Amino acid sequence: MLGLHPTQTVGEKYVRAVLDGAGCLPLLIPSLEPATDLRATLAELDGLLLTGAYSNIEPHRYSEEPSWEGNLHDPVRDANTLSIVPLAIELKIPVLAVCRGLQEVNVALGGTLHQKVHETPGFHDHREDKDAPLDVQYGPAHPIDLAPGGLLARIAGGEVATVNSLHGQGINKLAPGCVVEARARDGLIEAIRLDAPEPFLLAVQWHPEWKVRENPFYLGIFQAFAAACRERAATRN
Ligand code: MN
Repeated sequence: MLGLHPTQTVGEKYVRAVLDGAGCLPLLIPSLEPATDLRATLAELDGLLLTGAYSNIEPHRYSEEPSWEGNLHDPVRDANTLSIVPLAIELKIPVLAVCRGLQEVNVALGGTLHQKVHETPGFHDHREDKDAPLDVQYGPAHPIDLAPGGLLARIAGGEVATVNSLHGQGINKLAPGCVVEARARDGLIEAIRLDAPEPFLLAVQWHPEWKVRENPFYLGIFQAFAAACRERAATRN
């Protein structure tokens, strides 16, 4: 809501990262009820970025578990994004998914989530300190191990990276058709990609959009996404 008006918003950090990191122009896809039929629109686009959010996917989308009290939901976004992921794959549109976006990719393709990673035996607390300044919240939080020979290892030029961590949820069962690109040291999946030559589909649990030009690894992720978008733009028509 902005004043009394329902509002469609996107965080400026994502807009900036697409402009400054990928060199592409972002357009906002409306999230409305009923879900918009995006087939014709998507066919004209070169890439799709699924952003993070404060809300979590409603758990009935992937399990029998009830939600927890105070959990923020956005069923309209669920309806739109969960249908857009398979459509993007069918139309061979490059996808970069961040945080909630990673969870959407995993659920849309048949995987499940932990609703509270910090209460799941064996896992660390991956949440940010909400009272800390933003730069601390989005600062380096934990190392991740990158899959040898994978896309992220190629981008990083090595098999270890350090990332921010601002998530209470995480992947439980990996969706079929996806492979793990990165794990935290507690074993939690931190990045996945589609196990197919195309389209480019990379989903990360951290926030590479944060100050993208100041972090070579984050920038490399947006540049790899941009390269896939340009390739599509060149062959689209
Ligand atoms: Mn994490």
